[in-house]
Amino acid sequence: MTWRNMSCWLRCAASRFKNRGLPSVGNPKMLNKWIVGRDDGFIQPWFSNRGTCGSPFRPENRYFYFTIAPLPMTERTTFFETRLEYLKGIGPQRAELLNKELHLFTVADLIQYFPYRYEDRTRFYTISELMESMPSAQVRGRIRDWHTEGEGPKKRLVASFTDGTGTMDLVWFQGLTWVEKNLRRDGEYVAFGKPQEFQSKFSIVHPELDAVRADAEPDASLTPVYNLTDKLRKRFIDNKVMAKAMRSLLENAWPHIHETLPASLIDKFRLVGKREAMWNIHLPQSTAWLRQAERRLKFEELFYNQLRLISNKLLQKEEHPGQIFQKTSLLTHFYKHLLPFPLTGAQQRVLREIHKDCLTGRQMNRLLQGDVGSGKTIVAFITMLLAIDNGAQACLMAPTEILADQHYNGLKPYADAMGLNLGILTGSTKTKRRKVLHEELQSGQMHIIVGTHALLEDVVQFRNLGLCIIDEQHRFGVAQRAKMWAKNPVVPPHILVMTATPIPRTLAMTLYGNLDISIIDELPAGRKPIKTVHKYDKHRAEVFGFMRQQIELGRQVYVVYPLIEESETLDYKDLTDGHESIQRAFPQPKYQVGILHGKMDAFSKDYEMTRFAKGETQILVATTVIEVGVNVPNASVMVIESAERFGLSQLHQLRGRVGRGAEQSYCVLMTDYKLSSDTKTRLETMVRTNNGFEIADVDLQLRGPGDLAGTQQSGLTDLRLADLAKDGAVLTAARESAQLILEEDPNLVLPENAPIRNHVDAVGRTKSDWSRIS
Ligand code: ADP
Ligand code: MG
Repeated sequence: MTWRNMSCWLRCAASRFKNRGLPSVGNPKMLNKWIVGRDDGFIQPWFSNRGTCGSPFRPENRYFYFTIAPLPMTERTTFFETRLEYLKGIGPQRAELLNKELHLFTVADLIQYFPYRYEDRTRFYTISELMESMPSAQVRGRIRDWHTEGEGPKKRLVASFTDGTGTMDLVWFQGLTWVEKNLRRDGEYVAFGKPQEFQSKFSIVHPELDAVRADAEPDASLTPVYNLTDKLRKRFIDNKVMAKAMRSLLENAWPHIHETLPASLIDKFRLVGKREAMWNIHLPQSTAWLRQAERRLKFEELFYNQLRLISNKLLQKEEHPGQIFQKTSLLTHFYKHLLPFPLTGAQQRVLREIHKDCLTGRQMNRLLQGDVGSGKTIVAFITMLLAIDNGAQACLMAPTEILADQHYNGLKPYADAMGLNLGILTGSTKTKRRKVLHEELQSGQMHIIVGTHALLEDVVQFRNLGLCIIDEQHRFGVAQRAKMWAKNPVVPPHILVMTATPIPRTLAMTLYGNLDISIIDELPAGRKPIKTVHKYDKHRAEVFGFMRQQIELGRQVYVVYPLIEESETLDYKDLTDGHESIQRAFPQPKYQVGILHGKMDAFSKDYEMTRFAKGETQILVATTVIEVGVNVPNASVMVIESAERFGLSQLHQLRGRVGRGAEQSYCVLMTDYKLSSDTKTRLETMVRTNNGFEIADVDLQLRGPGDLAGTQQSGLTDLRLADLAKDGAVLTAARESAQLILEEDPNLVLPENAPIRNHVDAVGRTKSDWSRIS
């Protein structure tokens, strides 16, 4: 029976002893391993056959010990797969509750259900030591007397509590009769709660109150507070029970917890061991231990997250060949004769990165991040030229028809000038036209196809698709991207994913760890930063005045209304009301006002959009359909109604619709008076900066990564401890470490990487391999 094979450990004895040395235990063959713990919670495995010589035990400490007997393996389950109902101290009834309420089923689930905060009951404070800044404090003293004060909802029970250093009040607003019945005059209690100061007297409202037992001592560890439901509490699964269950679980699990990180990393980053970390995340011996445990577990979590992404990326590179795009004659022609403006440094750098990818003979999988207006379209076009130059076809997929149209119209002049065939395929393409397009794609006559989801259909086949560019990628699902791969059965197309939603670096690393990332972090020269202001609804007249003035100067204006599914009817009313009032304020024939929303048919949308793009309408009242990618350089004012209802990244996207020409552009955020503090932060951030990455960082702080697009499918929701908004430094370290290790030892066969190999094997291939195709 090996150490590892034991499926369960039985706690045979837990006897305390002092100055007595270690007791010897029964059959030494069966019970040759012990776990020994000190009274302060420090635990370590100890091998009795090593003898006491050189043992870490000191007579001044008190120890308890467990001896362990192996149990037969049950149905090949490992200890961590043990279902909770079989766990001592839990049992079937509690297990069922934990299943239902917290979705905890196995030992692994429970042991990884970490506290969300901790209370410090490791010491008693005297009343004279109390400070209002303390989040909570534990005080030991006697109840002298009590009385009720106030009437109605303000009626409260006030008990006078003293410990010789001072007097404080314990206050109850609820359950007065019950409390009163249970208080003992001059009884000694431990009170715990948040101290509040009023007229230099402290009080605790609704304290936790325990009668002092003779051996009352402060807790050895911080008290964990778990996220529990009311139902659990009603059925007596409270934090105390959880802490007790965790203690017993950790004791049992101790020998099964193996180090999951190689010694080199533990040394390098001075991490605590896995066991100490697991113990101290639940039952921290001190705040310092807690910090260490958190740091270690966050590192581990991010390390494995990155290891998985990077090794998938390496796999992908090996497995998937890509066409080699060597010829550049079209490209040279375009650069020489047709390039409409000098490329920015960032555009050139990104193009070099792309070109390099296309020469390796492996498939490119690259994410191109660039703020709105940074000029991704031209980069996409030049990349397409590279493909066509080498006998391949290219496609550009956009999430909406409006965008696809816009790309088509934007690329058409270039394509014409280059003598290239450019087509467009969307949901509204007529059947007859479709047939032709399908044939032209199959014969290779069509060089570039721009389109929407319609491109994904199986009937769309290419002669040789060499490049697939996906714009605004977060609107497409992983499965859809996989479909594009299959459009070239011989060699999968190179993939370039473009997004204008700047993702903070930390998040990008995690979300798209398997993609290479290129960033356009420079706007074309001569762009003036958009001036952003925040105005309350009552300043509307002033805002209208400003719009008039800008229109006089020949500019155009967007007015955007929120449209949120649940309140759709209401939102449409806002939109149409808004449209009417703007028409009244900007009457015909002097002014032309257009309207654009998602419920309009493709033809009307196109009509309105075209009129605005041509300058025939001066004001476009719209919903967020204009959010993505729309490009009308002459539009220089963006008014956002009910700006409080938009998320930060959405506001930034919308603002990006202006500031595309040479003129000074403006963004006006209109809101109600009542604003939450988060909303104020959003608006202030918008007013302060135009930098998409800075905005994305604030957004991440406000919302957390869970809300950001794409995180559902990324495995990011698996992160239990690490917070991408705060743990960027840990992520970077974890990623670099994972990268180094995989470079040196891609198959993790070196002995020093055994802990990684074992952990990866243990976690197994159960998780779906989503990242392959993202
Ligand atoms: P996005 O990155 O948001 O897709 P676009 O590609 O639509 O941005 O570019 C925005 C505008 O900037 C377009 O009108 C485009 O012609 C222009 N533009 C792009 N690159 C440059 C450049 N290097 N110099 C000047 N204007 C540029
Ligand atoms: Mg764009």
